[in-house]
Amino acid sequence: MATIKMRNLGLVYLNGHVGLDGIELDVRDGEFLALLGPSGSGKTTLLRTIAGFLRPSAGSLSIDGKDIAGEGMWVPPEKRGLGMVFQDHAIWPHLSVAGNVGYPLKLSGIPRAHLARRVAEVLEQVGLAEYAKRKPAALSGGQRQRVALARAIVASPKALLLDEALSALDEPLRARLRLELRALTREQGLTAVHVTHDRAEALGLADRVVVLNEGRIQQVGTPAELLENPANSFVASFVSDATLFPGTLVDGNFHADHPGARFNKHMEVHRNPGIKFVGVPQTAVSRSRRAVAAVAPTGLRLEPVENRGIGTTAGRAPLARVTSALYGRHGYETSVDWAGTALRVLVSGWVPTEGQLVRPVIESAHVFCEEAGAAEGRAA
Ligand code: ADP
Ligand code: MG
Repeated sequence: MATIKMRNLGLVYLNGHVGLDGIELDVRDGEFLALLGPSGSGKTTLLRTIAGFLRPSAGSLSIDGKDIAGEGMWVPPEKRGLGMVFQDHAIWPHLSVAGNVGYPLKLSGIPRAHLARRVAEVLEQVGLAEYAKRKPAALSGGQRQRVALARAIVASPKALLLDEALSALDEPLRARLRLELRALTREQGLTAVHVTHDRAEALGLADRVVVLNEGRIQQVGTPAELLENPANSFVASFVSDATLFPGTLVDGNFHADHPGARFNKHMEVHRNPGIKFVGVPQTAVSRSRRAVAAVAPTGLRLEPVENRGIGTTAGRAPLARVTSALYGRHGYETSVDWAGTALRVLVSGWVPTEGQLVRPVIESAHVFCEEAGAAEGRAA
């Protein structure tokens, strides 16, 4: 049980690379928080800074109101009371399952009887009660990861930090462990910070998701908030697979550079909320400014077009051609080439085929005014 507060946290690596920049984040007591971002976005850097393996170059960090890193202040990892699980479980091959799990308690010098009881209890919680005497070599990948999880929680940490802890596992085991992990943290009221590059995992598992890019927080929100109200075009494209259309905003209307994409302010609304403007200043609305529209795969539809009459589209928007259509749970995840723009669309109700001509109709979009160096996104 813990709250973790980060204030203006920054980290510059020895080679000058900026790992973290201006991180403001409160992890709430008992919440499951996911750190999501592409490879190299700073997820591991942030997690290791919380754990105490990296020392921030700016800002401060506190757990339950107690400063653990900051100006002239430093609490080493072993004194922070946190549990960690890594992708490559890092369990000792020469120790039994019980030996591995009990190791942190042995270090703390607690009585043997108490140690044995606690190890048995935790092995029960992760479903390894019958494997106490086994050596890690005689376990499956999923079981080894359960050992790592048991070892991370055996000393009743204030919070659990997980770095791609499930990423090395294959489906469906991975999905099962995901649910088990969530159930375990909920039962114990454990605060968890879970690093993943897997969007579905972050959205499916977490109470709130922190989207990182280039060492900066892009948005913090519930999964629904990220999908429905992305703070900037990066979040829209990374989290929702939105296609981005650069263009110009003038008099409250967005004009895409793309020859076919139309963004009508009074768009005909089918199942979507139409066009939404984000970060457009109320003043100087009439000034023309650059902006970008993000269209999620669910924000447009494709109308099949007869192959006849391709040449007679003069004056009309260019057509698009289906480049791939993958069957999925919610419909066909369809990619089309639209005058050089690769567009992703979710199609349901009919079967798109490769090479087919279609007319994309945009039904909803988020238009971001990011002229000022995406400052809005940074402050989110
Ligand atoms: P993620 O976990 O999101 O993939 P990391 O936190 O590992 O990203 O890395 C963030 C950025 O910092 C990357 O560009 C990475 O190359 C850089 N980086 C990581 N470790 C070091 C290091 N020890 N020295 C210099 N740069 C590093
Ligand atoms: Mg990483």
